[in-house]
Amino acid sequence: MNDILPEQTPVWQYLEKTVKDVLSAYGYSEIRMPVVEQTNLFKRSIGEVTDIVEKEMYTFDDRNGESLTLRPEGTASCVRAAEEHGLLFNQMQRFWYQGPMFRYERPQKGRYRQFHQIGVETFGMASSDIDAEVIMLSARLWKRLGLLDSVTLQLNSLGSNEARADYKAALVEYLEERKDQLDEDSLRRLDSNPLRILDSKDQNTQALLDAAPVLTDYLDQESKTHFAELTSMLDEAGIAYEINPRLVRGLDYYCKTVFEWVTEKLGAQGTVCAGGRYDGLVKQLGGRPTPAVGFAMGVERLILLLETLELIPESVKQPFDLYVAAEEKGIQSRIVLFADKLRDQFPGLRVRIHCGGLKNISQKAQQTGAPIVLLLKANDNQQLSGTIWYDKEPSFDLNEEQIVDKISGLR
Ligand code: ATP
Ligand code: MG
Repeated sequence: MNDILPEQTPVWQYLEKTVKDVLSAYGYSEIRMPVVEQTNLFKRSIGEVTDIVEKEMYTFDDRNGESLTLRPEGTASCVRAAEEHGLLFNQMQRFWYQGPMFRYERPQKGRYRQFHQIGVETFGMASSDIDAEVIMLSARLWKRLGLLDSVTLQLNSLGSNEARADYKAALVEYLEERKDQLDEDSLRRLDSNPLRILDSKDQNTQALLDAAPVLTDYLDQESKTHFAELTSMLDEAGIAYEINPRLVRGLDYYCKTVFEWVTEKLGAQGTVCAGGRYDGLVKQLGGRPTPAVGFAMGVERLILLLETLELIPESVKQPFDLYVAAEEKGIQSRIVLFADKLRDQFPGLRVRIHCGGLKNISQKAQQTGAPIVLLLKANDNQQLSGTIWYDKEPSFDLNEEQIVDKISGLR
């Protein structure tokens, strides 16, 4: 679990702000859920036989002996909250959330025990247009961040529950006959969660799958039509995708559309955003049948990617626009007041004042990296006068009014 230090937070804020701008362009509303839920919520939604529930959850008993879990993801909590507050039945909803998630994993680059997701969940819309919307929304975000060329959209349809069950049976039959060639993890999954074998990292297993039955051949007509509509909308929107029949996602609740945005620039932890349709989940958790589509992106991985590709604008890391310092002793209290006057004049201008010693102050002030530096002294009439440095160019001997004019001109 990482500390996020002041040097890093501007990058987080930049990413969060960009995401929020895109989400509000699509009319999504924020929902905030607690970080702890009853353990059963995750068992019932994510599935007992998944990596998350089997080995990644932080679970503990509270003082009442009730089993609670730090949320490993947001979808289950979001469904729980929306259902609890009557936001689902007969309604169409578009929500987003952000915050920490917790999974007991082996920490490595792009994989942490507390990490952060920004997620989107939509409810009450069964047709493929909303699948297209959430994908287009994510594509717009990559474009804004300059990432569109560095990520690829992988797409698949899991079909209906029945279609998936038929396929599962066929896959198990095929693999049972070749059991001796399976890796250990896949062997274990053959009984418990055979679809997960499709995304095994083991090369022999992958080779074995080349001749295995393909999910696409088992899709029901409704899912096929849904998928065809989706891909045709993506085509029209100019969003490239790769159909990956082995993309199944690790959680039990998906049906029909699943997708992942992946990058090759981060090594093994290449999935930056993942989601899909989960029409059965609300009912499974006790609500009335409600179609739903959503995705979650991994904030740490996106930041790693932005940093690797040097896509963070220079201005983002600079926490203030104007640095104000006294050039001489004895006027510090006037600096404090004058800086506040500037904040009144220029709402939004980020002003930091210099506190402490004044040795080499001109040089020191400029080394802060502030775009504008203001050095003040008092003239013979005890009026403040100042020098403004901008782009290495000084303007000397400005009175208070001229200082305000100058700053106004620079903004
Ligand atoms: P992976 O296959 O990488 O384990 P996942 O399928 O477990 O991913 P999801 O549950 O789909 O991941 O979560 C959505 C996104 O959240 C992932 O694509 C990834 O960007 C991010 N993510 C998941 N687990 C972690 C983690 N432990 N540390 C950092 N980011 C993570
Ligand atoms: Mg995982």
